[in-house]
Amino acid sequence: MIQIHQVSKSFKKNKQDVQVLDNISFTVQKGEIISILGESGCGKSTLLNIIGGFEQASGGEVLLDGIKVNGPSRKCIMLFQNYGLLPWRTVLKNVELGLEKSIKDKKERKEKALHYIQLVGLQGKENMFPHELSGGMQQRVGIARALALQPELILMDEPFAALDTFNRYYLQNELLRIQEQEKTTMILVTHDIDEAIYLSDRIFIMHPNPGRIHKEIKIHLTKPRDRSNGDFQYYRN
Ligand code: ATP
Ligand code: MG
Repeated sequence: MIQIHQVSKSFKKNKQDVQVLDNISFTVQKGEIISILGESGCGKSTLLNIIGGFEQASGGEVLLDGIKVNGPSRKCIMLFQNYGLLPWRTVLKNVELGLEKSIKDKKERKEKALHYIQLVGLQGKENMFPHELSGGMQQRVGIARALALQPELILMDEPFAALDTFNRYYLQNELLRIQEQEKTTMILVTHDIDEAIYLSDRIFIMHPNPGRIHKEIKIHLTKPRDRSNGDFQYYRN
């Protein structure tokens, strides 16, 4: 469970404090998928950075399973807008990297990395370097690397923005499947309302100046989420 309690954030600009986030509070249960929507500059990335411990709040606190977040931890993985791949490492090595501490056996580590590479549809590209891949493919490597770590919480900042429609749909489904299996809690920042509705249990709408949660929308499903049928499936085969 993640508790965000009265979080506020100010940045200094020309010796003046500019408030970016104002008194944000919400709780996310284990296994929930939450989307955060809001206009550019309203503070979504700042909020995500604070939840992940990459930035300090000016006020309030974030608790992950009851423990105050003081900095980045292995329990929580952030997928950045720019993927953060190491350019001198192959796809396989990039995904394997985070597993070095938890899996000592080389063969086991490689197998796990290959499993997640396949999951994001990059089989056959294991030995390529990031610069040899398209932007969307690089993004998928970043997603595979995060998923392989099996964190409790995944924070995603516009994770599918650089993908084409087909791969976006494919990965959205994979994400739902993985979430169902592993009960990973996910907080997603997106500009894509359709994506937010499709993926999330709840959507928070933020308003700017300073950033506040304006509205919470609960998604009630009338049928299971599934985009794997019809023309889309035909395309992939
Ligand atoms: P986008 O949808 O464009 O990614 P966002 O909602 O993620 O926007 P943030 O990146 O969180 O917005 O920025 C919110 C506000 O905080 C902006 O006005 C930005 O200028 C300011 N800001 C963010 N980071 C810093 C920083 N390190 N120093 C000063 N101001 C910052
Ligand atoms: Mg942002």
